[in-house]
Amino acid sequence: MAKILIVDDDKRIVEMLEIGLSSIGYEIIPAYDGESAVALVHSEVPDIILLDINLPKKDGFQVCRQIREEVENNYIPIIMITARDDLSSKVEGLDTGADDYITKPVDIKELMARVKSMLRIKNLQDELRSAKDELQELAVRDYLTNCYNRRYFMEIFQLELKKAARYKRDIVCIMLDLDRFKHINDTYGHPAGDKILCALAELMKSNLRDSDIIGRYGGEEFIFLLPQITQKEQLQYICERLRSVVETTPFKVDNTDVFMTASIGAAIFHADSLPTVDDMIDIVDKALYQAKNEGRNCYRIIDC
Ligand code: GH3
Ligand code: MG
Ligand code: MG
Repeated sequence: MAKILIVDDDKRIVEMLEIGLSSIGYEIIPAYDGESAVALVHSEVPDIILLDINLPKKDGFQVCRQIREEVENNYIPIIMITARDDLSSKVEGLDTGADDYITKPVDIKELMARVKSMLRIKNLQDELRSAKDELQELAVRDYLTNCYNRRYFMEIFQLELKKAARYKRDIVCIMLDLDRFKHINDTYGHPAGDKILCALAELMKSNLRDSDIIGRYGGEEFIFLLPQITQKEQLQYICERLRSVVETTPFKVDNTDVFMTASIGAAIFHADSLPTVDDMIDIVDKALYQAKNEGRNCYRIIDC
């Protein structure tokens, strides 16, 4: 059931509203001044706020403004409850971000109806927000492996380049391509190949840090940015770990263990001479090409 934060310095009013609203099942959180109201919005995350204007510590207008500034990803309707029925207070209330107002003495039936209608709007807002979040996720993820898709990875790469240039940081990028993957598809079929790609993506995630950025660059080609790596020795260590974990992990296809290898190209770009993203990709690709040419199941690093 919905949670209602009731803010009024008059304890009798809070009590009266609490009795009325809790009788129809709402959970009530009372607050008696502006500052504790703001604190309770953050700690309790109410679904709706009934807010008096004349309050100690912070008045209702200030509380309303602060909530609208501080609560970004959650729409909480605010109904102002005021003894002032002059037009300017109502206008100011709506201007500061309130959604509705009601004047004292409160008619509990009218208040219940307004709360109900505000909660309906909130539910619609919440549904819209989560649909938007889902769409956003779909737009940035690769449908098969759930890694970032190439387009979004390139966007992040541009942002990482800007950050690196501003804070004078090196950039480390790795590209991994499965060896003779065509042969896997030819032998076990394309759907089995797809399953292996998903398992490989999981394997990469579990062998990299949460802060690392993982993208699917092409069919069976993955690309990583490792913002926390600054030393070539660390990069060598990670490349070897990724190479060896691919080589030693059995990928299950119809109860058969399939073994694969991967070739890895990597590059470290130093803060004093950072190329463009396209040039960085070209260089990492060149390192990968070297690894393929020099026998596969190995890594090559270009130190720029
Ligand atoms: P190499 O060692 O030179 O990399 O050999 P390779 O066979 O892996 O060759 P290459 O990287 O050029 O070819 C990639 C192959 O990966 C082609 C295609 O059969 C397969 N592939 C690409 N995308 C997908 C996919 O989404 N699903 C599956 N199952 N296979 C894919
Ligand atoms: Mg390949
Ligand atoms: Mg390939």
